[in-house]
Amino acid sequence: MPELPEVETTLRGISPHVTDRTILECIFRTAKLRWPLDPALCHHLPGQKIYKVERRAKYLLLFCTQGTIILHLGMSGSLRIIPAGTTERKHDHVDLIFTDGQCLRMTDPRKFGAFIYTDTDPFTHKLLYSLGPEPLTDAFSGDYLYVAAKGRKLTIKQFIMDQKTVVGVGNIYASEALFRAKIRPDRAAGKVGLNRYRNLSRAIKEILTEAISAGGTTINDFNQADGKPGYFTQQLQVYGRSGKPCVICDQPVHSQHLGQRSTFFCPSCQR
Ligand SMILES: [Zn+2]
Repeated sequence: MPELPEVETTLRGISPHVTDRTILECIFRTAKLRWPLDPALCHHLPGQKIYKVERRAKYLLLFCTQGTIILHLGMSGSLRIIPAGTTERKHDHVDLIFTDGQCLRMTDPRKFGAFIYTDTDPFTHKLLYSLGPEPLTDAFSGDYLYVAAKGRKLTIKQFIMDQKTVVGVGNIYASEALFRAKIRPDRAAGKVGLNRYRNLSRAIKEILTEAISAGGTTINDFNQADGKPGYFTQQLQVYGRSGKPCVICDQPVHSQHLGQRSTFFCPSCQR
């Protein structure tokens, strides 16, 4: 599933090719992804210029002259920049063709993605308004986490995976960040001290930044018709390593389910 680093890499990959481009045509080849695709957009989008592209959580916002396209890659979505008229393949559901002859093509085999449009402030949209801070901004810090966790009984892993706490910390990154910060994932969020939250916020920022840098090498693929852009794997320290020796202490990595999600940790390094 595309996580925040993949979406950020996608943003950086498409941004130079769509910014300041005028939409010539919008083509939908399916009736719905996660939600129905609004056929009126095929009349409404042509003629509009995209003047800015941003990411909020895992949403891409394409700011157009009259409104904003809100795009989500869902479970399996990806975007490519290709010459307009490139033969479509199965699962190529959306094309935005620009007047410069290029095309932004959205592919989504499992159809959990989203392509919607709003003509009001996108940050007030129901999908976006209740999201927590971005992890790579100053608004996200150990002090912020500590205050937000006061009195909370859920586990710290579930707490940091809650999009209202902070956006973009998926299952893999939560396990990896807790390992780096040496905090057991099943600790009650409200019982973790300020210094440990400072370590945790630092670990989250480091791990996401490293993943984004790893993705930087794939940015050119956005420009290739046959490229498979955006997905990359980092060196994982605990995730998926159940029973294997901890990279620090050699004791076996444990796994357990927390909130239906597999969780990996080292019981001797993480307390
Ligand atoms: Zn260990």
